[in-house]
Amino acid sequence: MRKFKIETWGCQMNEYDSQKMAGILKSYGFEETQNDEEAEIFILNTCSGREKAAHKIFTRVGVIRKNLGKDKIVGITGCVASHEAEQLFKKIPKLNFVLGTRSVHLIAKAVKTALEGKRFCDTSDHPESIEISPDLVDRQKKVKAYVSIIEGCDNFCTYCVVPYTRGRERSRPVEDIVEEIKVAVNKYGIKEVELLGQNVNSYNYNGKTFKDVLIEVDKIKELKRIRFLTSHPKDFNEELVKVIASSERICKYIHLPMQSGSNKILKLMGRKYTREEYLEKIDMLRSYIPDAVISSDFIVAFPGEEEEDFLLTMDAIQKVQYDNIFSFKYSPRPKTAALRLKENVVSKKIADKRLIILQKYQEKVQEIKHKNMEGKVYEVLVESVSKRNKTRLTGRTEGNHVVNFEAGRGEDLIGKFVKVKITSSTFTSLKGILV
Ligand code: SF4
Repeated sequence: MRKFKIETWGCQMNEYDSQKMAGILKSYGFEETQNDEEAEIFILNTCSGREKAAHKIFTRVGVIRKNLGKDKIVGITGCVASHEAEQLFKKIPKLNFVLGTRSVHLIAKAVKTALEGKRFCDTSDHPESIEISPDLVDRQKKVKAYVSIIEGCDNFCTYCVVPYTRGRERSRPVEDIVEEIKVAVNKYGIKEVELLGQNVNSYNYNGKTFKDVLIEVDKIKELKRIRFLTSHPKDFNEELVKVIASSERICKYIHLPMQSGSNKILKLMGRKYTREEYLEKIDMLRSYIPDAVISSDFIVAFPGEEEEDFLLTMDAIQKVQYDNIFSFKYSPRPKTAALRLKENVVSKKIADKRLIILQKYQEKVQEIKHKNMEGKVYEVLVESVSKRNKTRLTGRTEGNHVVNFEAGRGEDLIGKFVKVKITSSTFTSLKGILV
């Protein structure tokens, strides 16, 4: 049997596409491996969200070619493929195939063509790519099921490549989403689902909105946890929060990217909300769900960000007291409108300084929040066993906190819910014992 290896970079959407490609290839008789030496076919499912991530791909292809031999088949899929298409053959002369995010259903054709010694490239927009049979998504050994509900994005935030790599918004019928989850539950025993979309809140299919999707998914009784990612603050509303608050299964964890606390910068970013509107939504969320776990993304040093804009960002962070923040320095991406903002580009030195200030502050907040969790018992879905110590397990709480704990029973607990008492913590991690 010919063996393939998929390497995935970037977001959950890529993770999900990798599962689709693995399932399709297996249905054609290929076998998956994690071993570099064994693999005949390498599929690099890429992310172009940040410049560094895109560069890593070129390095990885070089390493495969140099260390593993010239006869390996190497294909690039994902956002870098969508973005660069045929250009990739010029940049990487020995590349065998290129497949865009909306062509993942063609993976078997791409691999077969490459095995015949021909190049294959398809980065066009195939509506059917979103609708592959739920039976084909490979969820083996997975604890959580990613299920896409809406692909692409119509928002065109000025720093973001997603509208160029994943195209315009397209929602899936609610029935298809429910069917896919039922297959994951019945065939693989999955108890947690994460509904995916670049902006889940703008879901719209035949008049049904995101709230309707949540209500329907919540009816699948075998599910224990329902998560979703990502929410756009402009579309996040009270109606939705009421549905989340009233459900026992929908996790009270909300990722609501603010990006900047300055209205001037939010406008330059094209985010379509103000800091005041954002902060009001946080208050509204907490009025219904006081203990909601809230995380956010922030970009520092966006072109035009003055010291006072950065201070407004820090002020917003201090007001919200997030449970977690994913923070980055602005990274210019091809085709995006922010590239035209040539004035007041922030120097690297200032950008570095601002990122450190933000992260140091957040570390302190998380340290205190994690300390408050010590001594309490949480329900944890066990995800994996430590490679070095088979009795050490890792799982997640409803609030998406990662917990490491000793269990003695190792692998047979994977995919199960257990109670864990938190015994110690740092700002990045929580340790506990099985109760
Ligand atoms: S809403 Fe999100 S995915 Fe869409 S353009 Fe803005 S940052 Fe990118």
